[in-house]
Amino acid sequence: MDRLKMYIGGRWVDAEGGKTFTAISPVDRSELALVPSASPADVDKAVRAAEKAFHIWFHKSQDERSEVLCRIADAIRARAPEIAKLEALEHGTPYKEALGVTMGAAAKFENTAWLAKTVMGDQLPVPGSNTISYLQREPVGVVGLIVPWNLPTIMIAVKLAPALAMGNTCVLKPPTINSMIGLKFAEIISTVEGLPEGAVNIVTGSGSVVGNAIATHPLVDMVGFTGSSETGKSILAAAAGTVKKCVMELGGNNPVIVMPGADLDEAMKVLGHRQFNNCGQHCSGLGRYYVHEDIHDEFVKRLAEVAAAQVVGDPMNEDTTMGPVTSGEHQRKVEGYVTKSLEEGATLYYQQKKTAEHEKGFYVMPTILTDCRHDMTAAREEIFGPVAVIIKYNDGDDIRFLANDSPYGLCAHVWTGDVAKGMELIDDLHVGAVFVNCQMLQENQPWGSGVKESGLGKEGAIMGLLEFTDQKLVCVKYRK
Ligand code: NAD
Repeated sequence: MDRLKMYIGGRWVDAEGGKTFTAISPVDRSELALVPSASPADVDKAVRAAEKAFHIWFHKSQDERSEVLCRIADAIRARAPEIAKLEALEHGTPYKEALGVTMGAAAKFENTAWLAKTVMGDQLPVPGSNTISYLQREPVGVVGLIVPWNLPTIMIAVKLAPALAMGNTCVLKPPTINSMIGLKFAEIISTVEGLPEGAVNIVTGSGSVVGNAIATHPLVDMVGFTGSSETGKSILAAAAGTVKKCVMELGGNNPVIVMPGADLDEAMKVLGHRQFNNCGQHCSGLGRYYVHEDIHDEFVKRLAEVAAAQVVGDPMNEDTTMGPVTSGEHQRKVEGYVTKSLEEGATLYYQQKKTAEHEKGFYVMPTILTDCRHDMTAAREEIFGPVAVIIKYNDGDDIRFLANDSPYGLCAHVWTGDVAKGMELIDDLHVGAVFVNCQMLQENQPWGSGVKESGLGKEGAIMGLLEFTDQKLVCVKYRK
């Protein structure tokens, strides 16, 4: 079995003491490689390397930095089939989709490179003072990037690209169960000209050790985190010790409101895809459906048809639409929600049958639960799987209350035959994003900052870039 190394200070290194853990494929539980299991001492080396590199990287011009980002994009494209194959093997994404995701990661670096050139500072007029006063935009410094396992390639790109573009240097912790993808990024970074040694360090290991060491290290100036709300809260508490800037993209339990007259053909194209694509492991995914009684039976029947049409199997097969979920632990968690829902009174309306092939890996079959109630465990918590939790509502129910009654506030989906009625809901939905009769269209729009326990700050677009900067007030008297 291959024994991989981490990337610290421009060198390939073992973890202190040679500790490793085994990467497991969710496809068939095979052992893929031994991955370094870093200690706080390894994190310290990475942070110090990033600090040293910061003074070089920060002083490069924006054009030079953007050029390096474009080279990273080219290097990702050149190795896209290799990266996509690894994502299929280590994460379970169907290969064709993984290829699209990899190209999306390359595009992220390229688009960020261009966008970064538009970032400007602000001048503040001070009339009659012979003084100029301005806000100078600067990188934050050494940033710790802690990444989740759902779509790891794109999750790494959406953090690394803006952090580097704005002149920061990074210590990135990939998701423990998808560390090989993180180290593949390190390989790519290591081939790119113009990035100082130590500007990007990729440190693998457990969240509680590596992630915590990043969040508490006094020389880390900022933490960019995506993951569950529970982990986010512990990182915020850890980072408070040194008052770090934190951008947190956290969990959700997103309501899907289906109102009378909704165009079910269109809804199925969007919701059917979102529910089962990537096994439903999307932060903007479909947590709980509230379907009006007038449309409920037809909606459920159509969604079950989409579930039945999923080809669940080996991600490398051409016609597979759904691979396994990413780990045995997550499989047990998602299947546990189905069992619990049935105990709490739900009906198993549809579930694909598992074959012996599925038993070899961490597969969760497409599932539709009906007769669910708002107070059921699966409707209150984040399932993050290919399981639709469907609650029937009628005109007597307060749909605004039901949608908002959650500690989360990431996003909400509304499908309606009457767009004006759908739009009336927008102001009342206490979430970071609302999609009415469509899905997330993210071109040049920031994602993130769910409200409540779903996060802090923005990711993507110009606002996401600015999160990786600070502003320094400068006043200069140029004449007495
Ligand atoms: P997770 O919180 O378990 O782990 C995320 C990362 O944090 C991993 O790298 C993990 O190793 C690390 N970590 C774990 N414990 C830590 C600790 N004590 N200190 C520091 N780091 C620690 O999340 P996950 O299961 O990998 O990802 C799924 C979650 O991510 C879901 O809740 C999903 O909604 C959320 N998510 C949110 C967004 C968004 O944009 N809001 C996007 C994708 C995923």
